[in-house]
Amino acid sequence: MSPSVKSAEAIKIVVAGGNYAGLNAMQHLYSILLASNNESIQRPSIEITLIDQRDGFVHCIGLTRGLTEPEFGANLWVPYSTVSWLQHPSIRLVRGTVTEITPNAVHLSSGQTVAFDYLIIALGLSRFAPIGLRSSTKAEYIDEIAETHTRIQAAQTVAIVGGGAVGIELAADVKSDFPDKQVTLIHSRALPVPGPFKDEFRHMVVDILKEIGVDLVLGERVIAQTPESEDMSYNTTKEMNCTPPELVGTMSSDAELTLASGRTIRADLAIRCLGTLNKSSLLHLPLAANDIFGADGIAVKDTMQIDCDAYPHIYACGDISSRALVKLAGVGMYGAFIAARNVARSILSLPLEDGERYPPQLMLLMGKDHFALQLGDEIWEKERTREHVHEDMGLRRCIECLSLHKEPEYVRLD
Ligand SMILES: Cc1cc2nc3c(=O)[nH]c(=O)nc-3n(C[C@H](O)[C@H](O)[C@H](O)COP(=O)(O)OP(=O)(O)OC[C@H]3O[C@@H](n4cnc5c(N)ncnc54)[C@H](O)[C@@H]3O)c2cc1C
Repeated sequence: MSPSVKSAEAIKIVVAGGNYAGLNAMQHLYSILLASNNESIQRPSIEITLIDQRDGFVHCIGLTRGLTEPEFGANLWVPYSTVSWLQHPSIRLVRGTVTEITPNAVHLSSGQTVAFDYLIIALGLSRFAPIGLRSSTKAEYIDEIAETHTRIQAAQTVAIVGGGAVGIELAADVKSDFPDKQVTLIHSRALPVPGPFKDEFRHMVVDILKEIGVDLVLGERVIAQTPESEDMSYNTTKEMNCTPPELVGTMSSDAELTLASGRTIRADLAIRCLGTLNKSSLLHLPLAANDIFGADGIAVKDTMQIDCDAYPHIYACGDISSRALVKLAGVGMYGAFIAARNVARSILSLPLEDGERYPPQLMLLMGKDHFALQLGDEIWEKERTREHVHEDMGLRRCIECLSLHKEPEYVRLD
């Protein structure tokens, strides 16, 4: 039995970040350590703290459509206050921005320090606005998406820069919801969809975008833009030490984009969908080697503990971990499931378990009737893919999987 179990004080578990990965970790910690059970097993006294800068879950997968259809977008935010089991007396919800993580405490911008015996880091990665959200409450979020929607609605020509998954889905959603607008997607490489995918898949995506009516400018890098969007001067090397990307505007009205070839493209609204920033710089763990904080995120073991033997009580999952090449909600939720079980196993003095690794996959939802899926090496036929596409972009399924509208059942670990 670990020293903490013997002590009279409650064992402190902190989950930093409460979205797909963090909430799934919370759910499984709750099932194992707090849910009511009819067995006469003595469970240690536990206090679980969830820290997030927001007051609710956000179904990010639906965000591009949330910007083009704000009524749909409003449903994507589910306040924690509506999740019954999060109100358990042994769970503490702390709204705050994490500025630093040290070996035994999480430090917030308010000056508050939250000590832990075990920590699960699930802070995701940073995206620039408007996909990266600056809001911390649902009311602010509804205003935020309405503001972007108004700008999209007012523009007759929209240029989207960056043919990654987000740029593709945004271009497709804008064109599908506003067929009269001219929508152009500009990407620096000859084919869109960077990452470990087949050219056959990329060609399929190109064909779908053309069918929807999106104009494609491929193999052309934007080298200048007037007026300059705020992210163009963003110093990525400073990461979280400068303005968070969510507060940095990537939209420019009446924009002129100059391409490397010298060609210029004018657009009533230009939106840059370029890259993400990792949050590794929040971690100050003196005994960890620098190379566990790579560009792809924090290196973790198969147990989801960070890859440093000096800190076996710190776990990382979801987009902030380097677990998967392609960052996906499902991968994050699975990693969180393993992390939560292993925290509980450690507290209950059971051997830790390893998570499996899954092949890279990507499903692109391009408007309501077009989608493409590559799973491992396999590219799926449209009709086969359709069976896995949800009209609400998976919102209900995620609510169900994360038990946001029901009580998670007790789970016994053996
Ligand atoms: C437009 C779009 C479409 C996508 N489509 C798909 C898809 O079809 N399928 C799929 O599987 N994945 C998709 N993804 C990726 C998916 O959304 C991510 O993989 C997923 O969000 C990762 O979950 P996470 O919990 O690790 O991080 P996040 O969901 O980013 O959650 C991080 C949490 O940490 C909080 N946080 C962050 N920093 C701080 C801080 N400093 N202090 C306090 N709190 C903080 C945030 O508020 C948030 O609640 C899509 C993403 C986008 C943007």
